[in-house]
Amino acid sequence: METKIRIAIQTKGRLNEDSVQLLKEAGIKMVSGKRKLISAAKNFPMEVLFLRDDDIPQSVADGLADIGIVGLNEVLEKKQNVNIAKELGFSRCRVSLAIPKSDEYTGLNYFESKKIATSYPVILQDFLTEKKIDAEIHEISGSVEIAPGIGLADAIFDIVSSGSTLVSNRLKEVEVVTPSEAVLVANPELSEEKQAILDELIFRIESVQRAEGKKYILLNAPNDKVDEIIALLPGMKSPTVLPLAEQGWSSVHSVLNENDFWEIIGKLKAAGAQGILTIPIEKMIM
Ligand code: ATP
Ligand code: MG
Repeated sequence: METKIRIAIQTKGRLNEDSVQLLKEAGIKMVSGKRKLISAAKNFPMEVLFLRDDDIPQSVADGLADIGIVGLNEVLEKKQNVNIAKELGFSRCRVSLAIPKSDEYTGLNYFESKKIATSYPVILQDFLTEKKIDAEIHEISGSVEIAPGIGLADAIFDIVSSGSTLVSNRLKEVEVVTPSEAVLVANPELSEEKQAILDELIFRIESVQRAEGKKYILLNAPNDKVDEIIALLPGMKSPTVLPLAEQGWSSVHSVLNENDFWEIIGKLKAAGAQGILTIPIEKMIM
């Protein structure tokens, strides 16, 4: 029987959509229909196991799944034996300490003898031990941010992204303990066949990631301006220059960082470029 790799992803929640999207961009089609616990891929040797994010690190460490997509925060909290095979760049957040906005923050000693509410007791205890702070950890599983307001704790240790949840609960972030993002984790003892499938998956993910924020740019220019225009394009290697049917004109093609686009576009026009087009890029293979 053909070897398949089993990937665990979140059933629902913040990671689910981006995880499904990532597999889709990697060209992996899932059998549609009602969502089951396990779903087979149609055109890739993979099956997808849907779990709560809390259960993903252990299921990968135990080999129930071979690989998984989960927040680094959960990986650090669960301390399971998994390898981080690839950072995925989505669900970026940080796990931070926050205190009431009205309190003056005096540095880490602020937390001495304080009560801190969190869903991440392991990461917090490691941090407090390292910093030699003696504080009480109050573990709660959700709505950590309301704990200080109702007198359940003095401070919180929780996920922050925009910070708006903190603001609406009159809290302020005072220490970032760890940044987090979604990661691809792997069982450390994959068979050779499964490792090869994982390598193929990573190759595809990297091709998609490389194309992110990149645009293919095409423009027309008089031949005597082509060198000047090429100098403005930071391109991958060297741009493609093709003759146009109209005498004395060329078409220049290159790849551009989307962020650079508006800065460069004025210079290109000033240098004589016309008919500038940009096209999204799906994948880039090196
Ligand atoms: P489950 O029901 O699977 O246990 P959950 O409620 O524990 O889900 P979610 O809220 O769906 O978890 O968050 C999943 C992960 O997404 C978090 O562990 C974290 O890595 C990331 N995450 C959470 N909140 C944010 C945010 N505001 N911005 C970016 N990433 C976030
Ligand atoms: Mg969870």
